[in-house]
Amino acid sequence: MEDVDPPREVAGAADTILRQLEAHGLHWDEPVLYQSQRLEAYREALEHLRRQCLIFPCRCPRARLRSLGGVYDGLCRQTELSGELSVSDTAIRLVCLEQVINWQDLIRGACQTDLGTEVGDFIVRRRDGLIAYQLAVSVDDAYQNITHVIRGDDLLSSTPKQIHILQLLGQKTPDYGHIPVIQDSRGYKLSKQSFAPAIDSTTPASNLYQCLSLLGLAPPRELSGSSCEVLLQWAIPRWQRALLPSAPIRVNSLESGSKKPPGE
Ligand SMILES: [Zn+2]
Repeated sequence: MEDVDPPREVAGAADTILRQLEAHGLHWDEPVLYQSQRLEAYREALEHLRRQCLIFPCRCPRARLRSLGGVYDGLCRQTELSGELSVSDTAIRLVCLEQVINWQDLIRGACQTDLGTEVGDFIVRRRDGLIAYQLAVSVDDAYQNITHVIRGDDLLSSTPKQIHILQLLGQKTPDYGHIPVIQDSRGYKLSKQSFAPAIDSTTPASNLYQCLSLLGLAPPRELSGSSCEVLLQWAIPRWQRALLPSAPIRVNSLESGSKKPPGE
């Protein structure tokens, strides 16, 4: 549970997510791991990277960072990281030299990113002292012995960063597979930012039925009134990566999500 960003968290959201999963018949096989309980592990990972001289403090003003167009130029790389692990108001970046990360994505096939030219030294601890998402999830994937990361392709650009962190920490990398995300009619992914309504947990079976269709499984019509358990039992042996759509999934109005964004 990614709860290391208190300023952006909605009270009760973590619990809502778990209840939504349960409502849809989706269960987890180990206790839920909360990132807010893992700060010591993230600090140890930073120490590990510091000992290899792979992280450095960066106090570049935002305006300068904006002028770089997203790829950090390494200006602060020579600055020594002394007490900054505990100091706030300083971002900590990970050195990314010319280094090509290759991986075989289970869904998208061969992928390649040049960290030096396409990503640049990226942030592993934020200026406000909070641990960056990339570091936290990598450390947690290793800790939980995750073998497969299957997620939306909006996170594709995170993958080379996470592989890089895991390699530097001497950990195995999981297999990754990125599924096209559902977009609204304007091409935005369904999210809080695009004012998509929350999933309606009062209609879990019809939500699942719709998702199975979008995933290319073509569930028969007679299954449309079935329970979540029946739908999942039908779907699991029929799941095939080859059936997934290769482009973003556009929907004009999802059955349970047809509310219009404010102002439209
Ligand atoms: Zn800097």
